[in-house]
Amino acid sequence: MRIDRIPHHSVAIVGGGFAGALTALKLLDRAEVPLAITIIERREELGRGVAYSTTEPVHLVNGPAEIFSLYPEDPGHLPRWLVENGPANGWTPPAEVGSSSPPRYLYGTYVRDELARAVANARLGSTLRHIRSSAAALVAAPNRIRITTAGGTAIEADEAVLALGVFQPRLSSSEAHLAGHSRFAANPWDARALDRLVDCDEILLIGSSLSMVDAVASMEARGYRGRYRVISRRGQFVEGRRTVDAARDFLAEGPLPATARDLLARVKAERRAISAAGADWQGLPLAIRPYILPLWKGANDGERLRFVRHLRAFWDVTAHRAAPESHEAVATATSQGRLEYGRARILSLAVEESHIVVKLRTTTRVETAPFDGVIDCRGHQLHDWRQIADPFVKSLLASGEVRPHSTGYGIDATPEGDLINEEGRVHRNLSAVGHPLRGVAWESSSITEQRAQAIALADRILAKFTPVRVA
Ligand SMILES: Cc1cc2nc3c(=O)[nH]c(=O)nc-3n(C[C@H](O)[C@H](O)[C@H](O)COP(=O)(O)OP(=O)(O)OC[C@H]3O[C@@H](n4cnc5c(N)ncnc54)[C@H](O)[C@@H]3O)c2cc1C
Repeated sequence: MRIDRIPHHSVAIVGGGFAGALTALKLLDRAEVPLAITIIERREELGRGVAYSTTEPVHLVNGPAEIFSLYPEDPGHLPRWLVENGPANGWTPPAEVGSSSPPRYLYGTYVRDELARAVANARLGSTLRHIRSSAAALVAAPNRIRITTAGGTAIEADEAVLALGVFQPRLSSSEAHLAGHSRFAANPWDARALDRLVDCDEILLIGSSLSMVDAVASMEARGYRGRYRVISRRGQFVEGRRTVDAARDFLAEGPLPATARDLLARVKAERRAISAAGADWQGLPLAIRPYILPLWKGANDGERLRFVRHLRAFWDVTAHRAAPESHEAVATATSQGRLEYGRARILSLAVEESHIVVKLRTTTRVETAPFDGVIDCRGHQLHDWRQIADPFVKSLLASGEVRPHSTGYGIDATPEGDLINEEGRVHRNLSAVGHPLRGVAWESSSITEQRAQAIALADRILAKFTPVRVA
């Protein structure tokens, strides 16, 4: 028996943030045949995307290093990498590095460098090409995908993966006049916009979850010593992560709840039992998280949207807790009487000389107050592809190569991530990873979920590339 000379199998990945870079890494590490991988990514470096492009050392990953290894079979990989590489990259690892939360810029360096390592160790003949441009159009034929970039380059590949991440909406028409105003930071990670607010006496932070923690940590690091007023529509406030074990596996008892109402009843009962036992509620989301995918898949769209309407805010603020080290900035400002938070809804924002005058509806009254600065920490994420202005997204929908998911979140795909076109046909060579699969999987954005998706996707693609043995 002889093995024929194997041609290069090719994969094109659009988007080289965390999900796209990790998919490439897993393909290279697991391939038994030479691969030609092309990543189309407009950013300079692969692996960073939105989350890990920050350069601020106070922006931390929100979990302990030991859960964010790129290799789930080796949870100690990231802690070891941090000990070896942290000091040269401006970070001194603490003694308990596995339970610490490293800076996000360093995590991005880890992903970037591990991808470079995977290229260096890849099967002979494998290549990785980074085309620094935006994908503009895609045509899928049964055995070939053709992608054209905004710069006019055409890439043909056997397989393509959409790893486009999440998109931000434009400011609403009632807030558009604030764009570019020196006292308004539309993005809590915009270092220059925050620099302009250091001399303020009072800043309004709209939103009370992880983006707010980043903003407070950034302002404190800049030496800001004024007051913060934090508001959110539901009055939820993100907590710092405590080290707790997952609560008991209560959802394993009996069939999974089929409705949002049943789920809420089971969670509330468990919460009461946890309180009565004097245990920490933070173990509860850890016990629920493994069931999010089966719960979401088992529900119909009506129940999914009920969950989104009524339980999402509660779920987001309990499941996505802040790294204790960055939450400390919030706790310190609170204990100094400089940070207060409450439930309120914005009615209007108006620019008046050097102030932004904000009209708010709190739980008890309508209030109008001038602020020296406003930081938008709502963490806006646009999941409805029909609303996204990005030309590639528009072109994918217009050509019918993809269709919106029936929930309005992301695009339609099989449970494995194979995309479904406008006519309902499953593409056999076009898949997605991460945010575009929000409607298919719900939790599809965090490191651990995207890691599992990238591994499964790489294995599915590689299964199609097995060497052909000729007698
Ligand atoms: C500020 C922030 C902090 C976070 N922190 C954590 C954390 O601590 N822990 C955690 O588990 N999760 C965290 N997350 C969740 C985060 O979503 C994931 O960890 C991960 O970074 C998402 O990666 P992604 O590749 O899906 O998206 P992105 O990082 O957004 O990458 C998508 C990439 O696609 C590119 N792209 C899009 N369209 C095109 C096109 N047409 N052509 C070419 N390129 C294109 C973009 O330039 C971008 O770089 C955080 C998210 C944010 C926003």
